[in-house]
Amino acid sequence: MKKVYLDYAATTPVDPQVLSAMQPYFFDQFGNASSLHAYGQEAKKALEDSREVLADFIGALPEEIVFTSGGTESDNYALLGAAFAQEKKGNHIITSAVEHHAVSGPAKFLEKKGFKVTYLGVDQDGLVSPEDLKQTITDKTIMVSIMHANNEIGTLQPISQLGKIAKEKGICFHTDAVQTVGHLPVNVDALNADLLSLSAHKFYGPKGVGALYVRKGTRLETFMRGGDQERGRRASTHNIPGIVGLAKAIELCRSKMNDEIKLQTSWRDRLIKEIPARIPHVRLNGHPSQRLPNNVNFSIKYIEGESILLSLDMLGIACSTGSACTSSSLEPSHVLLAIGLDHETAHGSLRITLGRFSRESDVDYLLEQLPPVVQKLRAMSPLYEK
Ligand code: PLP
Repeated sequence: MKKVYLDYAATTPVDPQVLSAMQPYFFDQFGNASSLHAYGQEAKKALEDSREVLADFIGALPEEIVFTSGGTESDNYALLGAAFAQEKKGNHIITSAVEHHAVSGPAKFLEKKGFKVTYLGVDQDGLVSPEDLKQTITDKTIMVSIMHANNEIGTLQPISQLGKIAKEKGICFHTDAVQTVGHLPVNVDALNADLLSLSAHKFYGPKGVGALYVRKGTRLETFMRGGDQERGRRASTHNIPGIVGLAKAIELCRSKMNDEIKLQTSWRDRLIKEIPARIPHVRLNGHPSQRLPNNVNFSIKYIEGESILLSLDMLGIACSTGSACTSSSLEPSHVLLAIGLDHETAHGSLRITLGRFSRESDVDYLLEQLPPVVQKLRAMSPLYEK
């Protein structure tokens, strides 16, 4: 059976070149980067070289990079670290209604600890309004956290503008850039970010490794206490193969980025045009153009996203409904509800995300298989009147 992977926003395969770069660090060069002997120093060099590659890519200083176990840890560290470091200054945090659970989870925890959190709403395309942010800031606001791109609907937020508003008020600004790093140019100064989260498995690196960018001077309570790795900011023996893999993945993304953006945008726009032409009663979710180059998200009315997903899976096509982390729950996506969809429409969403190993023939296959799947499911749906 033909196998077509169209779920790159959930995770990406490790690029074979990344795997080759990682391999020596499992056996020949397995040292602990904190050891003083030659094994340790070899590992330390790989660690610091990798830090430089990542720092250079996002316009940061090497000492502003903290390696973590991935996007979730980076987001938790940013939210909890910045909140607890500034609790004497104020207790108000601003985020959005469409954040990944890796941000909304710690935000809800902070509410339980006495912080006040404002969840900014979004418009029908999923955009946060800079004016709303301005209006919501008070003299108690200590942090703003708004994601760079939404993992479900692909909408790109006006981060530079939002970051500038926070900066002018001297408020710490965090952005979850897990869906953009490696896919679009990301520069911490251009984005006005004090804290920025990223995760290697979203850009052809291994799972379980990521980083938090921490602008010099940002007040952050230590998150993982223990040894003094990462200048005391994040204890635990370094995951050298993972970190080397992250850096190699960054190098590859850097050299391929322009071509990948061009190709994926053309396939994305083809799907955005052809799906509604082939299937009636569909709605594009997310901004029509201000969106990730690889993201397509449609609500397909009168049927459940899960049923579409399973029918496509039987044809060898892997897509997603809701976000990967919640697609096993039957709750409609908080992102689709936030852009104003009713529960029924929110239940019928399909996310298609393209990547490095996608081919035009994958797009052709999906366009061929999706309409009969939808037709068959609608024929069985009590909600659908022929
Ligand atoms: N933030 C966003 C926007 C994501 O898409 C994800 C993963 O789906 C995460 C955070 C969590 O990243 P990780 O899987 O590396 O913990």
